[in-house]
Amino acid sequence: MKVDVGVATDKGQVREGNEDAYLVEPPLYAVADGMGGHRGGEVASQLALETIADLFRKGDVPLVDQVRRANRAVFERSGEDRSVAGMGTTLTAALVHGEQAHVLHVGDSRAYLLRAGAFRQLTEDHTLVNRMVKAGEITPEEAEVHPHRNVITRSLGTEADVDVDEQEVGLLDGDQLVLCSDGLTGMLSEGQIQAILEAATSAQEAADRLVRAANRAGGVDNITVVVLSIAEGEPEEGEESPAPGVPSPVLAPAPVEPERPKRWLRIALIVPIVLIVAVAALAGVRAFLDSRWYVGVANGHVAIYQGIPADVFGYDLSHVVQEFTDLSATDAEALPEFSGLADGLNVDTQEQAQETVTTIRQAIRAATHHHGGGG
Ligand code: MG
Repeated sequence: MKVDVGVATDKGQVREGNEDAYLVEPPLYAVADGMGGHRGGEVASQLALETIADLFRKGDVPLVDQVRRANRAVFERSGEDRSVAGMGTTLTAALVHGEQAHVLHVGDSRAYLLRAGAFRQLTEDHTLVNRMVKAGEITPEEAEVHPHRNVITRSLGTEADVDVDEQEVGLLDGDQLVLCSDGLTGMLSEGQIQAILEAATSAQEAADRLVRAANRAGGVDNITVVVLSIAEGEPEEGEESPAPGVPSPVLAPAPVEPERPKRWLRIALIVPIVLIVAVAALAGVRAFLDSRWYVGVANGHVAIYQGIPADVFGYDLSHVVQEFTDLSATDAEALPEFSGLADGLNVDTQEQAQETVTTIRQAIRAATHHHGGGG
């Protein structure tokens, strides 16, 4: 089979950098979508693809083992370098050999096949929402707008070992194979992607137009697309036949592994849930604290605080809203009714706090006059 390749990547309209990466090393093609704070995502996707490319050029091991080694490489770097700790990446790869493509996949990037007007997703997303769809808990339409649609349940580099989905896809003249990151599929419907593929006159034009369309639709994430247009015929130089010494890739379809709960999956599921609960709890605490007011002491002065006069693990649960530099806390505390000022005088509203300060001011003034007048 002859392969016309088009590739395009863009950081999109929102992201600072591009954490996606692609590999075009005919007959091997791949996209990777890195994740992890700071430079982590960029490092993960690049390192994974470099590792695969190096191993592929050497031709020592089957593609699935190259992917496993890439997983290990990212995992080990993540453990060695604190600045990229916890990084990971998706990987969707296709090796074109003879009349077939060997497709490998981890994460939520995707491979699609457009054949004779039918557009079909080849890969299965390793995401929380896809699990929920398969379990019948939500519909595919709900998954597309689900708040946790970005939670992935499998990636390269986050565990020492990784399960890799594999499949063999028979290729026909006129097929178009698309590898893409979720920055494309999150922005465009499958119908839109198909229409662009069908209208384009070359693989490169298709790739460019897909990225442009995703950007026009918002471009909220990095966008990467590899388009392979398949045609009958002998591959051109370096296009299909693996270099001498490359063992034949595993041609048998991978056995379907039974789904069993795994530690990484439990963690992948539990961590976001714990975070959601924690965030909700914090939001509740925040709302409560914002509704509380007290009068206390700041820098030796009477002050109005929002929150409650306490701290948790060193974090103040309140902040100064107004400090009255003309009102000495010592003067106020000298008055029996305000002796507890340092501990905070709780009130219900900011207005009540202002009234309390006014009362303190008048009481200090009265006391001063009393002392002054009475000798
Ligand atoms: Mg992405």
